[in-house]
Amino acid sequence: MANETILLIEDEKNIAELVKYNLEQDGFRVLTAAKGTTGLESALKDKPALVVLDLMLPEMSGLDVCKALKQNDKTRTIPIIMLTAKGTESDKIVGLELGADDYMTKPFSPRELVARVKAVLRRAKDRPKVEMMRAGTLELDLTKHELRLKEKPVELTAKEFELLKTLMEASGRVLSREFLLERVWGYDNSVNIETRTVDMHIGQLRKKLGKESPRIVTVKSVGYRFDGE
Ligand code: CA
Repeated sequence: MANETILLIEDEKNIAELVKYNLEQDGFRVLTAAKGTTGLESALKDKPALVVLDLMLPEMSGLDVCKALKQNDKTRTIPIIMLTAKGTESDKIVGLELGADDYMTKPFSPRELVARVKAVLRRAKDRPKVEMMRAGTLELDLTKHELRLKEKPVELTAKEFELLKTLMEASGRVLSREFLLERVWGYDNSVNIETRTVDMHIGQLRKKLGKESPRIVTVKSVGYRFDGE
């Protein structure tokens, strides 16, 4: 556990120093960045074991940094703990939706943060490499890129497969249409594409899921959730 590198992206100097000190006390190597842009560069270059990421940063927000880290294959698996100012509900949801592993609301105890860092690192190590996702009679085989219902293969388009995989990975959490567009189709906010595209593909996917189709739940005026239970 010792000497693992933690990247701390935080513009408030005293918080950064306090967190750095506490992490170093526990044997971590700590890199710091005061801006989202430099933090992102450091993550790509230094490959930290974990990123502690402040939400409110100059030039590039913590959410954008999080998004960029999760979209890059080189940094995708690095766990992220977000620091939020007042814990506004939407920031938390967006942060977790974008793939942050945990978050802490300021003001927080540095010792508590160190404990969270250790817990998240432990979880990341124990995380088995997922090759198959199951729910009821539905099996999504990530190795073969195949959907099976009651062991019978069902043909999916590449987008339908990605859509189902994204929903199943986030099982139990609501994903917005915008998020799905971005994740599955790779569109960002600059592309003015209709979110109806998502609805259309969900419709097709539901047809193919047959009896398991109620697992894709429509969450009114938000998006969709996969019900894995
Ligand atoms: Ca800040």
